[in-house]
Amino acid sequence: MGPIMSDKPRNFATRTIHAGEQFSVADNAIFPPIYTASSYIKRGLDDNPEYAYSRVANPTRHAYESCVAALEEGLGAVACASGVSATSTVLELLDKDAHVVVMNGVYGGTFRLLEDYRSRTSGLTTTYVDLNDLDALAAAIRPDTQLIWIESPTNPLLHLVDIEAVCSLARARNILTCIDNTFCSPWNQQPITLGVDLVMHSASKYIGGHSDLTGGVVVAASSELLARLRKISMAVGAVQGPFDCYLALRGLKTLDVRMERQSANALRVAQFLESHPLVGKVFYPGLPSHPQHELCKRQMRTGGAVVTLQVKGDREALKRFVDALSIFVLADSLGGVESMINHSWSMSHNSLSPEQKGVMGITEGLLRLSLGIEDCRDLIDDLQGALQASAAV
Ligand SMILES: *Cc1c(COP(=O)(O)O)cnc(C)c1O
Repeated sequence: MGPIMSDKPRNFATRTIHAGEQFSVADNAIFPPIYTASSYIKRGLDDNPEYAYSRVANPTRHAYESCVAALEEGLGAVACASGVSATSTVLELLDKDAHVVVMNGVYGGTFRLLEDYRSRTSGLTTTYVDLNDLDALAAAIRPDTQLIWIESPTNPLLHLVDIEAVCSLARARNILTCIDNTFCSPWNQQPITLGVDLVMHSASKYIGGHSDLTGGVVVAASSELLARLRKISMAVGAVQGPFDCYLALRGLKTLDVRMERQSANALRVAQFLESHPLVGKVFYPGLPSHPQHELCKRQMRTGGAVVTLQVKGDREALKRFVDALSIFVLADSLGGVESMINHSWSMSHNSLSPEQKGVMGITEGLLRLSLGIEDCRDLIDDLQGALQASAAV
């Protein structure tokens, strides 16, 4: 038997199981153990083992990082305590007073970190633009612009960004690019192959996949960026603990089969909703009616596993709809094996003023569905019943 994973390129599903350095050479374990040790014993003053102190490097974390990096076609990864701490680790790459161009409708936690904290503590300045408008992007760039922050698809309206176009513009100007790839997971979109420098994930969503862990990760496209991120991660210390690294790696093992089912469920649900008279608008990049459907086909494997819809009627109708659901659970998160529903207006975007929501296109009737792996017939039945309940008075 040759080395566990030879140089021969393998397809995605195979890589989820075998890629990276997941195996413990010491004891031939088929899955890496959870190394809880904070420190490792040196055999003498001249001994400099690979693992010395767990904040700096941990074997369980390394196994997970090496797998997720391989899935993203990156050179390495840094696992962080949460998605937000992964973002915060990326922002440490920037100089004081740098300017960041950010995609319109970016994740609320990213907006909060930039506006409420880094503006004050690091002097960061920001410009929010629709990155699909390349002229607006070019106009937003200043001599002190150091980073373009991409998110695609966005939450909850599922706008896409042409990643290749933005990255080629950024590269020509020597500006770093980072994408929040949470909604796609490494399965649905591999932004490094499209020219991105850094890929960030909330592992709390699809990577973990079972709604049982909080985590984040940053994958680097170059060894230079990886080395800088490792130093930052050591200095800032927002690292992922070994138990959660174990859960995240375990999650990756089934990413391919989960995403396949979840995307298939999403497409069927989106088609059902689009043809339903009680549904206003359906947002799903996998539907031909989505204005960026062609871009979706170009840079994503499927339309993803999130579908957003507008329920017709007033708040009472919306309430009846949500109350009548018996499979979909009302939750703040997404990406788990269970189907979830989120009311953007009062939940994910609650901290924004009604005016800000209006500008972003967040209306009161908007609901975001995160499709799980249940039988799609039951999911559609659940939605059908809830729509009927929403109309009944
Ligand atoms: C959840 C989420 C985050 C933040 O991740 P946490 O793990 O909650 O810190 C960032 N971006 C997107 C798109 C998310 O959905």
